[in-house]
Amino acid sequence: MVERKKVARKKIMASDEMKRYMADHYYELDHAAKTGEQKVAWCSSVGPAEILRAMGFLVFFPETHSAMLGATRMATEFIPYANALGYTPEICSYLTADIGAFTQGVTPLSKAYEGIKSVPKPDVLVYNTNQCRDVQDWLAWYSREFDAPLVGIHTHRGVKDVTESYISSIAIQMEEIIEPLEEISGKRFDMNELKRVTALSRECSDLWKKVLDTAAENPSPLTFFDGTTLMGPAVVGRGTQRAVDFYKILLTELEERVENHVGAVEDERFRIYWEGMPIWGRLRPHSELFAELKTCVLASTYCNSWIFSAFDPEDPFRSMAKAYTELFIVRSDEAKEKYITEMIDFFKVDGIVYHDARTCPNNSNCRYGMPQRLEVNTGVPSLVINGDLNDLRCLSDEQTNTIVEAFIEQLEEHK
Ligand code: SF4
Repeated sequence: MVERKKVARKKIMASDEMKRYMADHYYELDHAAKTGEQKVAWCSSVGPAEILRAMGFLVFFPETHSAMLGATRMATEFIPYANALGYTPEICSYLTADIGAFTQGVTPLSKAYEGIKSVPKPDVLVYNTNQCRDVQDWLAWYSREFDAPLVGIHTHRGVKDVTESYISSIAIQMEEIIEPLEEISGKRFDMNELKRVTALSRECSDLWKKVLDTAAENPSPLTFFDGTTLMGPAVVGRGTQRAVDFYKILLTELEERVENHVGAVEDERFRIYWEGMPIWGRLRPHSELFAELKTCVLASTYCNSWIFSAFDPEDPFRSMAKAYTELFIVRSDEAKEKYITEMIDFFKVDGIVYHDARTCPNNSNCRYGMPQRLEVNTGVPSLVINGDLNDLRCLSDEQTNTIVEAFIEQLEEHK
């Protein structure tokens, strides 16, 4: 049996600045919605946020809101309210928890930020189906509820190579949403503003990549569990100077850790890649479980999904089309396996943990033989954890602890 030893958690000092960032983000949205001083757009997490920001909208991301429901362990109790409206327990539990909570007049923002009573009323809702169809159905529900217009980009899925024809078809759709957005915002589209915002998004993305890449060091200065919260500004604030400033602070802190050989996990012995969604309601127990086994879960496809290296301010529409289609979740298994193989190599990984998220087939990559193929091709062993991003009825803590301990024992034997 491998031994579990209690360890102290090492705080990332920049996380205080990140909390201030997120608070200001939600207060700004709340103020805009209450006063009407600025229009509010709701956007799917890998939707065309740059266009919205360049047109003067403040942007609210429902997925981040629902992840808050999950992280505060509020999500599970609200799912049945959405089920009663015909949204089944089998579909995205971000969607069901979020709509369920809304029907009950509940938001985690009220608990976190004094004075905020509800989500900010949208003037428009914008989705991109690059990640799944659920975001379209989710925003469509709110569009009916608030009687607000809904616009969207329809992206190809299962893409092997992101070819010219894919890029053109998405770029055209992005250009086509400008006219309805101009009508809603009452402002003329300004190409120079889009170039400016795209440049800031690219800078944010490059810094976020550098932050995540520090995990390739031995010992790794950060964990996947740190990354799931530190990614907040990259999701909600890309395209702003303040997000860029935050990642400069964070990167400096992590580089200091690297220089001083300070690992996020005490006596790091094993290095794990996490494939799939986080289990938001179990971030802390999972972080402790692995740390107590001297194991650092140090990299993930999930956190890497907010790296948009293709953004080019000189060619914003086409480069956005490319970046938002190159994403892992959009790609074929062949492209995904190539990517994970590169990550295994880059992060010097000993094993992979796949999270089979019950309600997100789009971000669960262990259902069609991928772990087995990658094991054969790379020799790196893997483990599948059954669970869910938000619906805690789909996981067993006891079973997770047992199989993780057995997996680390297996790694120990092969060391
Ligand atoms: S990718 Fe998965 S978790 Fe994200 S919105 Fe779609 S179904 Fe939900």
